[in-house]
Amino acid sequence: MIPYGKQEITQQDVDAVVDVLKSDFLTQGPQVPAFEAALMAHTSAGFALAVNSATSALHIACLALGLGQGDRLWTTPVTFVASANCGLYCGADVDFIDIDPQTYNMSISALEAKLIQAKATDSLPKVIIPVHLCGQSCDMKAIHTLSKEYGFKIIEDASHAIGGRYLDNSIGCCEYSDITVFSFHPVKIVTTAEGGAVMTNSQELADKMALYRSHGITRDETKMQNASHGGWYYEQIDLGFNYRMTELQAALGVTQMTRLDDFVSVRHKLAIRYNQLLEDLPITLPYQLEGTYSGLHLYVIRLQLDNISKTHKEVFDVLREQGIGVNLHYIPVHIHPYYQELGFKIGDFPESERYYQEAISLPMFHVMTEEQQDTVIRVLSSVLEG
Ligand SMILES: *Cc1c(COP(=O)(O)O)cnc(C)c1O
Repeated sequence: MIPYGKQEITQQDVDAVVDVLKSDFLTQGPQVPAFEAALMAHTSAGFALAVNSATSALHIACLALGLGQGDRLWTTPVTFVASANCGLYCGADVDFIDIDPQTYNMSISALEAKLIQAKATDSLPKVIIPVHLCGQSCDMKAIHTLSKEYGFKIIEDASHAIGGRYLDNSIGCCEYSDITVFSFHPVKIVTTAEGGAVMTNSQELADKMALYRSHGITRDETKMQNASHGGWYYEQIDLGFNYRMTELQAALGVTQMTRLDDFVSVRHKLAIRYNQLLEDLPITLPYQLEGTYSGLHLYVIRLQLDNISKTHKEVFDVLREQGIGVNLHYIPVHIHPYYQELGFKIGDFPESERYYQEAISLPMFHVMTEEQQDTVIRVLSSVLEG
């Protein structure tokens, strides 16, 4: 089976992890700060905090922005469930903005319409999480402008997008957001096995997220309520979690980050080949929004079902049977049973649901060979023409 995504692990990565195993620190040593420094250097954001997953990163980002009971969080239905669940963890109400049919990212016009309505009913959101689907940035300038008018905070879910750019800046610089979140799960662009990070330019938010990452405990005397009792002393000043990344994971992240530009440029070469060799098939190829350079975590096609004699499921099943590890990103969050229980209905977000009926993620990963790609193209062509 040709997988849809796969990590690249080199001897350099293996050596870095083994070195940590032989060192004094398996956690809370020098590798996590080194990985954070690499993330800051790449993005030019002022602060980076590595955590054990993007899910944890989203949770502490929401908490740092003060999201709580009675507040509202909006995101897109076409994302992994974690982008919405983080709002529920904080006791907030979650709602969705339908997607743009061309970029598959949150629709700016739908967002604006919903904000106007929410303002009229005094139900504006506190936090909005745009997701850079497939690695292509949302129109952050437009979302940022709306945030000033309607007073919401922005967390970019850039789980797909490290290495991508928006208007000449690296995604993660937080120019148009409060916080950006990355994921380092093995199918993503850079991996630490499991892992995530929050990026921000705010010292205040960084300090809060550092507390939430580690039990709400501080060893900084300027933040303590009482005088230190001695060298062992620390204080818990908030309720936090253990969301820390290990030294083994961070060491892997450090060596992976040295190859980030190569990871993304190889993905672009693969995408260009797909674009050329699939152009005559009855499918819609990925659209590139002007001013964006995608991290290209995913290469998603949409079937033009009116011109294909098979159903979406038949095409998907035949591809899998023939060894092509296609996938579907994503089942719209609002149609999961848990969200249906919360009151969402099929039909609430029609563009997202239409996307779900047509989308297929083709294999796309750094170590993919041209031969593997040719196999994907050959099988897909024969399935669609047959
Ligand atoms: C993968 C992913 C997450 C969660 O990442 P983890 O590191 O697995 O917790 C969140 N949002 C999006 C869009 C993702 O693709």
